[in-house]
Amino acid sequence: MLFNKIVYGPIHSRRLGTSLGVNLLPTHAKVCTFDCIYCECGWNKPILHPTLPTFAQVHSELEKTLKELKEQCVDLDVITFSGNGEPTLHPEFLEIIQDTCKLRSIYCPNAKVSVLSNATQLARKDVVEALCLCDNRILKLDSAIDKTMQRIDQPLNKSLTVDQIVNSLQVFKGDFTLQTCFLQGDIDGVEIDNTTPQELQAWYKVVNLLNPKQIMIYVIDRATPLQSINKVPAEKMNHIAQQLRQHGFNVIVSI
Ligand code: SF4
Repeated sequence: MLFNKIVYGPIHSRRLGTSLGVNLLPTHAKVCTFDCIYCECGWNKPILHPTLPTFAQVHSELEKTLKELKEQCVDLDVITFSGNGEPTLHPEFLEIIQDTCKLRSIYCPNAKVSVLSNATQLARKDVVEALCLCDNRILKLDSAIDKTMQRIDQPLNKSLTVDQIVNSLQVFKGDFTLQTCFLQGDIDGVEIDNTTPQELQAWYKVVNLLNPKQIMIYVIDRATPLQSINKVPAEKMNHIAQQLRQHGFNVIVSI
């Protein structure tokens, strides 16, 4: 499923409430530094010169929509940067976030500005600065074990390690939301399960180290490009949440 607009919705998000989406990627293809086996946008496809929306296009579409929603008395909970891939890849990500914060103050001061990101661009200072301007930085870590992270997220950088991701996340000193998609199934006949005791033990260790202000754990909800993966049972998800809450973490579970 691809978003065919720059600004879409509002939609009701399981995790965020009434959310107006902003897609900084092409409207006809996914562009991402990961190729997650559960990605709702499907698999990456080779595109030589992806056309990204310009700053001016994003500003104009967003302002038009926010104005209309205000006139219709629609209360937004959040403006969410997500869409067809990794939003922080946009070269003007910082300027767009700065502008969005201004528009939010004018048209919907109670709405949060959130970014869903795979955290692969945190070596860029402008990306960290932009994420710090947002109310919610929702950053992905699907496994604390390298091999599993590589199999689930399929980063384009095959040498990416969990340590590198964890080190880069420490720049926020816990002021972010950690998001993890739990799943079970197989990849080409080989079992994949990031909820085994060994997986969870490694993941809890990283969670303790990062100490995020919030943790979102969720299961696959729509059709996935790899069809041999399944939802984790609700009972198991609730058990994981309970383990975290016992240690004082703020947890949102979407099942
Ligand atoms: S990081 Fe997000 S957009 Fe990129 S492949 Fe994974 S789920 Fe899809």
